[in-house]
Amino acid sequence: MKILLIDDSPEAIAIARARLVRDNYEVIHATDGKAGLAIASKEKPDLILLDIDLPDTSGFEICRLLKSDPELSMIPVIFLTGSTDTTDKVKGLDLGAVDYVLKPFDSYELSARVRAALRTKHLQDLLIKHAQIDPLTELWNRRALMDRLAQEWSRITRHGGVLACIMCDIDHFKRVNDTYGHRIGDEILRKVGEVLINTSRQSDFPARYGGDEFVVLVPDEDADGAYHLAERYREEISKIEVKAGKEVVSVTASFGVDDSNGLPSVEALIEAVDAALYKAKHSNRNCVVVGEKQVLPTQSD
Ligand code: GH3
Ligand code: MG
Repeated sequence: MKILLIDDSPEAIAIARARLVRDNYEVIHATDGKAGLAIASKEKPDLILLDIDLPDTSGFEICRLLKSDPELSMIPVIFLTGSTDTTDKVKGLDLGAVDYVLKPFDSYELSARVRAALRTKHLQDLLIKHAQIDPLTELWNRRALMDRLAQEWSRITRHGGVLACIMCDIDHFKRVNDTYGHRIGDEILRKVGEVLINTSRQSDFPARYGGDEFVVLVPDEDADGAYHLAERYREEISKIEVKAGKEVVSVTASFGVDDSNGLPSVEALIEAVDAALYKAKHSNRNCVVVGEKQVLPTQSD
């Protein structure tokens, strides 16, 4: 756990550092607000201890800037203040700080308040994670997918680049459920999830879109590149075997692939992969179809 201390008092730095290092935290520090913000952006600490009286700007202003930056806003901030004035304490808490410690502080109290703030942060992280994970397959869920898609989209509109998207749907899956039961169906969904995780790169984003439908975002790859990945998924999914009594159940899946090039929105990308998947389903299934957005104009010729 990394703690950033933003304070210009050598005494406060020495006391806090000694205690927190003994508590096994990594402690980094900055002696003014501007440097503190820069270090926070670079190091992404787990918690920030922020003095209100800084040489360049007030701790309140730094807190406001931290809380308005989406990448830093979730880091808990504890104010360090010499002021017993209620207005200051209220102002700090209202700006999003989780707690305050009065200076000169007792190092054990500081340590206990840091522990409490990190405990709450850990629970908050768990809740956020659970709200984003599909419990059956442990892939990202649809909500997490749509959030990531929006983030990736804003990244490529700002900085350029490309994003590929793969949509996958298991073939005749209803038949599997009807013949072997839901438990076997669930086992197959889990194994498909494993294939998507094990075959993807760290930067790819595999998600359960709903039912037997999956979507993988492939950053920095165009549709042709993602086609090869989808082919690997297809092959691996066809090797899945699940035992149902004496029988061995296997499945195939169909895929639609496209990329962000020339598309106006996230919705257009989802529509494009959906159209490609639709075509795959109508081409005997168990195949990958790429780039419906390029194919469609030719069809209307
Ligand atoms: P197609 O090849 O056209 O995709 O045929 P399909 O039978 O797979 O049709 P479709 O994709 O529309 O059917 C999805 C089926 O997935 C319907 C439902 O019974 C099943 N399903 C959805 N969610 C779950 C789940 O969580 N567990 C199980 N076991 N089955 C599910
Ligand atoms: Mg299906």
